[in-house]
Amino acid sequence: MVTDPFQLAKPVLDRIEEYNHQAFFVGGCVRDFLLKRPIGDIDIATSAQPGFIQQIFEKVIPVGIKHGTVIVRHQHQSYEVTTFRIDGIYTDQRHPDSVTFIDEIDKDLERRDFTINALAMDKNGEIIDLFNGKEDLQDNIIRTVGDGYERFMEDPLRIIRAIRFSSQLGFTIDHQTVDNMIKVKRDIEGLAIERITNEFTKLFAGDYLHNGLSYLKATEIYKHLPIMIEYPYIIHLLPKGLNALYSFGEVIALLHITEPKVSVIAWINAWKCSNQIKQEANQLVDGLYYYKSNGLDQWLVYQLSSEYYKGFIRLSSIYHPTNTLSYQELVNIEQSLPIKSKKDLAIKGGNLIELFPHAKRGPWLQKTLNKLEEEVVMGRLTNTELELKEWVKWNPPEIN
Ligand code: ATP
Ligand code: MG
Repeated sequence: MVTDPFQLAKPVLDRIEEYNHQAFFVGGCVRDFLLKRPIGDIDIATSAQPGFIQQIFEKVIPVGIKHGTVIVRHQHQSYEVTTFRIDGIYTDQRHPDSVTFIDEIDKDLERRDFTINALAMDKNGEIIDLFNGKEDLQDNIIRTVGDGYERFMEDPLRIIRAIRFSSQLGFTIDHQTVDNMIKVKRDIEGLAIERITNEFTKLFAGDYLHNGLSYLKATEIYKHLPIMIEYPYIIHLLPKGLNALYSFGEVIALLHITEPKVSVIAWINAWKCSNQIKQEANQLVDGLYYYKSNGLDQWLVYQLSSEYYKGFIRLSSIYHPTNTLSYQELVNIEQSLPIKSKKDLAIKGGNLIELFPHAKRGPWLQKTLNKLEEEVVMGRLTNTELELKEWVKWNPPEIN
C-alpha cells in the first residue's frame, strides 16, 4: 500500500494511464519513501509528452518543456511531470545540449546519477529497481549508475551531489565512486556556480554534515571551489562537531567569521548568492560580533530580523557553547521593544532642523537620529517628542 503524499498524487498517475501512457513516481521521493524519511517533492516520469500532459490536465505550468518537464497542479499540490528521456552531451556543463524523448522508463533511469536515485514506483507501490538501488539503500551506499568516470565527466555536479547526499543521508560513498570523483574533480571549476551553491545549501543543512565535510576534506574537492581555491585552509578551521545550518546565509556568516580576511561580500559575489542571503549573512555577522562584546540586549534584537533568530542562536551556540540563548528569550525582548524601526521615533529630521534653524543639512542629521534610535531602543530615553528634543538640546550635535 502506498501512503499519504503518494495517495494524493495517485490520481495524476491514474489520469495519465487512462490515456494508455505509463507513469511512475521517480527519484528522490521513492528513495525517501523507502528510507522512511520525510518526502520532499513528488516527481513523476511518464511516456506522455509535455504537450499531451498539457491537454489532459487543467492546470499545467510549462516550466521546462524543452527538457520535457511541466508542473501539474492537482488538489493544491504541484507535481513535476517529466517525459522519459535520454540526455545529449553537456557541453556547457549546465544542461544537456539536447534531450530525446523515449517510450520506456529503462533508459530514463539509466541517465540518473546514483543507484538510490534511480528507483521508480508505480501507483500500487511496485518498485522498479534496475541498478540495485534498494540494496544500496539498505547498505547505506552512494554509487553511480554505470561507470563513475563517464558519469562525472558528463556532469561534474554529480561529484558535489554525491557529497550532498552523504551529508543528508549519512551514507558511505562507494570507494570506486570516490576514486572517480577525485579523478574528475578538476572539472568542477567549469560548472555554473549557482548549481554548486544550490547543492552546498543542502549539504550544509544535512543531518550528517560531519560525514559530508569529511568527504569534502578527504577528496580535496574544496580546492576547486571559488575562494576555497585561494584559502584552502578555511575548511579545516571550521568548528569541530558543527551541526546542520539551515540557510546559506548562516554558512556564509560562519565562513567569514572563520577567516575574517574574506569578507561576506566576497563570498556572496563568488558564490552568486541572492540579496536575501547577503542580508541574512550580514545581519548574522553583525549580530555575532555585537553579541561577543555586549552580550544579549535590546539593540542586538532590534537590529536582527526575527526570521534570523534561529540561525543566530545556532551560530552563537558554536562560539559561546556555555551561553546558550533560547528563541523565546529573543522573542520576549523583541516584544518589549519601544520601537520597531526608525520610522517609529517620535521626532524626525524636520524637527531637528527646527531646533537648529541656522545649521546646514548634513550628516549630523542622520547621526543624531541614529543616536536617538539607540537611546530609545535601549530604554534610556522615552520615545516622546518632548523628551527627545530635550535630550538633543542638552547633547547638541556636532554640526559639520
Ligand atoms: P531532494 O529530496 O533534495 O530534492 P532529489 O533526489 O529529489 O533530492 P533533485 O536534485 O531534486 O534530487 O533531482 C531529482 C532526481 O533527478 C534525482 O533523484 C536524480 O534521479 C535526478 N537528477 C538530478 N540531478 C541530476 C544530475 N545532475 N545527473 C543525473 N541525475 C540527476
Ligand atoms: Mg527533488
